[in-house]
Amino acid sequence: MTRLSVLQYPDPRLHTVAAPVQLVNEDIRRLVADMTQTMYALDGIGLAATQVDVHLQIIVLDVSERRNRLQVLINPSIIKMGGKAEFEEGCLSVPDVYESVRRAAWVHVRALDLNGKTIDVQAEGLKAMCIQHEMDHLQGMVFVEHLSPTNQRRILNALSKQGRRSNSRA
Ligand SMILES: [Zn+2]
Repeated sequence: MTRLSVLQYPDPRLHTVAAPVQLVNEDIRRLVADMTQTMYALDGIGLAATQVDVHLQIIVLDVSERRNRLQVLINPSIIKMGGKAEFEEGCLSVPDVYESVRRAAWVHVRALDLNGKTIDVQAEGLKAMCIQHEMDHLQGMVFVEHLSPTNQRRILNALSKQGRRSNSRA
């Protein structure tokens, strides 16, 4: 397994829209293994393929305390969603920035698993937030883009002041 490098906002490649996976084969499983290792190594709760500059519809997540509940979603689509919830979100592509984002409180997602089998996943709370955050990445959207233009500018300014000083978050 290889630890992959994570694109850092505002890298324009983060705005790429991911294509569906045509066939879940060994290459895809290897990519998922590398993404999983990268997510755990960086202590993230989720990672989208977009963030490692692979523009395919793949996300991995694990919101469990013990980091032993990996969920892999290939070609995820939201079947149903509802409610309202707000979480303080962070992102491996936006170091040291945490902002509240309003999203649906629960989602029902259909996706493929690592064997190419269709799975249905119901999620609420943190997991629902994480799925929506990662699915945004697949659409080329970073969570801070949910914020007001003023807040986005503030974050961009802060990031450029941080400069390339440290890559410790990712
Ligand atoms: Zn993210």
